[in-house]
Amino acid sequence: MRKIRTNVINPIDQDRAEFLPDHVLIWSSDRITALRPFDPRLDADAEDKHESLCLPGFIDLHVHLSQYRVRGLWEPDLLRWLDKFIFPEEARSHRPEYAKEVTRDFFHALFKAGTTTSVIYTAAYQHACETAFEAARQLGARALIGMTMMDANCPADLRQSADSALGESIRLFETHCNSKHMLKYIFTPRFALSCSPELMRKTGDFIRANNAWLQTHLSENPEEINEVQKLFPGKTYTEVYAELGLLSERTILAHAVHLSEYEIGLIATSGSSVAHCPDSNFFLKSGEFPYRDIADKGVKIGIGSDLAAGSTLNMLHHAKMANYRQSTYPLSPERLLWHITLGNARILQLDERIGSLDTGKDADLVFLNTPKDTLWNRDILSRLIFCPEEFPVVETVIAGKTVFSVGS
Ligand SMILES: [Zn+2]
Repeated sequence: MRKIRTNVINPIDQDRAEFLPDHVLIWSSDRITALRPFDPRLDADAEDKHESLCLPGFIDLHVHLSQYRVRGLWEPDLLRWLDKFIFPEEARSHRPEYAKEVTRDFFHALFKAGTTTSVIYTAAYQHACETAFEAARQLGARALIGMTMMDANCPADLRQSADSALGESIRLFETHCNSKHMLKYIFTPRFALSCSPELMRKTGDFIRANNAWLQTHLSENPEEINEVQKLFPGKTYTEVYAELGLLSERTILAHAVHLSEYEIGLIATSGSSVAHCPDSNFFLKSGEFPYRDIADKGVKIGIGSDLAAGSTLNMLHHAKMANYRQSTYPLSPERLLWHITLGNARILQLDERIGSLDTGKDADLVFLNTPKDTLWNRDILSRLIFCPEEFPVVETVIAGKTVFSVGS
C-alpha cells in the first residue's frame, strides 16, 4: 500500500477537469482505494509530495518502437523520409540483439515521459515484436503491440510474403490474447501502399471474426494519397480500407489529415477511431488535421506521439502541439488533458480501468515536479499544457508498481 500527500489534476470529461489541492491518494496492490483531502490527524504517515502534481498516467495512441533511435531526422516528405531513415533503421531490428537494445531504451524513455499505456508498432519481424512483449511484461508496461506487416512496395529486407505476415501476426495474437488486460496484440498493416489487397482482405476477415484490434495509417500526405489512388483507381483511401474490411470499432487510424466528408462518414459509421499526431504532421509538412470536421461527425479522436516523426514521447508536448496545429479551432487545456488520458482510454475501451484517478480504478499515475512560481489554482492545468518542460516527471506508476523514479 502507498499513501501520498499531493495535488491532483483529474480529467472528468472532454471539457472538464478538477484540481484537487493538498489531497491524499492511496492505492493498495494495483487499485486506487482513496482520494480525499489531506487531514493532518489521519494522514501524518503519508509520503510527502505536497509540492508535486499527480495526474493519471499518459496514454500514447500511436508510436513506433523500432524508430526510437532515428527521432528528429529531418526530411520534410513522408515517402522520402521513410526511404531515407525509417526503412533502413527498422531493418536493423532484424538482428535480435539490436531489437533488444532499442526496446529497452524505448520503454525506459516511455516511463520517464510519464506514459503508462501505449499503442505500439514494432519492426516487421516476429522476434522484434516478441521482444517488445517480453520487455513490456517484465517492466510492467500496459500496451497494445503489433508487428508491422508489409508485403509490397518496400525494401527487400523488410518485405514479408502475405502468408508469413498474416501467419506470424495470428501466432502473435494467439500467444498474447490471454494476457489479461495489461498487454494485447494489435494487427498492424503499415498502410495501403505497403500491403497487398490479398493481405489486407485476409487480415480484415480475421480481425472481424476474432474481435481483434487493428492499427494502420490513413491519408497522411498528398503524395502518399496519389500513390494509393494509382494502386486502387477510382477509390478513396478510406474506401480501400472499408472495402477490404479493415474498419471496425477496434480500428485505430493514424493521421487522417486529408479526408472528404464522405470518407469521414465512412469512419464514423464503422466506429473506428483516429489517432491525431500533430507534432508529426508539423515535422513532415503533412497538413492541418481537420479536427472540427472529424469531431462534428462523432468520430472518436485521440492523440499519439508518432515517434520518430514525432520528436518526443512527452505527451504533454503533443497535447500542446494539438492546440498549436489548429490555426483557428481552439482546443482548451481541459480537452487536451482529456485526450491524452481518459479520451485515449475510451478509444482503447479501457476507460473503466484507467484514464482518471478514481477509487476502484487501476493505479496508473504520474508525479510531476512543479516550478517555484507554480499557480496553485485551476490555472495550473493551462501552465502544465503550454509549459510542459517546467513539470519534469519524478515518478511513474503502472498498476500500483513504480516503473520509473528520479534517482533510482
Ligand atoms: Zn506512424
